[in-house]
Amino acid sequence: MSDLPYAFFHPRVVRTERLSPTLLRIVLGGEELSRVVSGGHDQRFKLFLPHPGQDAPVLPEALDLDWYARWRALDPEVRGIMRTYTIRDVRRDPPELDVDFALHGDLGPASRWAGQARPGDRLSMLAPAAADNGGVDFRPPEGTDRILLTADETALPAVASILSGLPQGIGVKAWIEVPHSDDRLPLVTKADAEITWLIRTGADRTTPLLTALAAADLPPGTPYAWLAGESAAVRAQRRHLVADRGFDRKAISFTGYWRQGATEDELLETETAVEDAS
Ligand SMILES: Cc1cc2nc3c(=O)[nH]c(=O)nc-3n(C[C@H](O)[C@H](O)[C@H](O)COP(=O)(O)OP(=O)(O)OC[C@H]3O[C@@H](n4cnc5c(N)ncnc54)[C@H](O)[C@@H]3O)c2cc1C
Repeated sequence: MSDLPYAFFHPRVVRTERLSPTLLRIVLGGEELSRVVSGGHDQRFKLFLPHPGQDAPVLPEALDLDWYARWRALDPEVRGIMRTYTIRDVRRDPPELDVDFALHGDLGPASRWAGQARPGDRLSMLAPAAADNGGVDFRPPEGTDRILLTADETALPAVASILSGLPQGIGVKAWIEVPHSDDRLPLVTKADAEITWLIRTGADRTTPLLTALAAADLPPGTPYAWLAGESAAVRAQRRHLVADRGFDRKAISFTGYWRQGATEDELLETETAVEDAS
């Protein structure tokens, strides 16, 4: 047993559910999932997929603090394909876990796998085994009295989960950009939430959310902003909030969930190269 707040799990697909033209829910099951302890909100986890011809993804032999270096040291043609996703929901009886995939065609292995997933398919996850696990970015500072959320379809599962966990009385403004009007999923919350859906009409992934944010009337107070979606779009939104709206940098969480023109492996290689050089 490791003391790490996360562990490898090896669930199977139980069923799939088409939520909308873009979003596909994959329900994973298996007794060991009863040990998953989600930190809630935008709780992330790592998904590992097999390559074509493999029964199950190849993982690092040991799980310790060096697991990522061990995984990188494996042959890229053989090691499990690693991607990052959000725990949309987790249940105990029976142990099940929901992951909502924004399908973007056959371009990426995760989207391709999800689009073809059938009951019984195997995958592995590096998922939280303790509530305090470092995989939750939504952390409003003490004293926050209103919340701004922006998301594209990849961050819609995280926004849905964040909203469902917020208490009564907190004001929220959320802008969510999706490809189809039928992707406007019902969002459940006790918060005083104003949700604006933006339906994308072209290939431009930066302007719609930025324009909506720039046009927004933001009342005074102590705001916290959580921004997630395409990497350049998220950075542009953060710049706007800091430079034009006087936001405290510490009151913004921003995460590039994917980058146009780069696979998640390429994104991670860039981040690792920056870390190695610093
Ligand atoms: C913390 C975190 C949580 C995330 N949670 C979710 C989640 O719950 N649901 C979800 O669907 N995604 C989520 N993502 C995003 C997901 O990890 C990426 O979209 C990932 O790149 C998909 O892997 P892939 O194998 O399909 O594509 P990759 O092999 O990584 O990329 C292949 C190509 O597709 C492009 N691409 C990747 N994603 C998209 C997209 N959505 N639309 C258009 N082009 C794309 C890339 O730019 C690249 O050119 C999350 C990311 C992070 C960092």
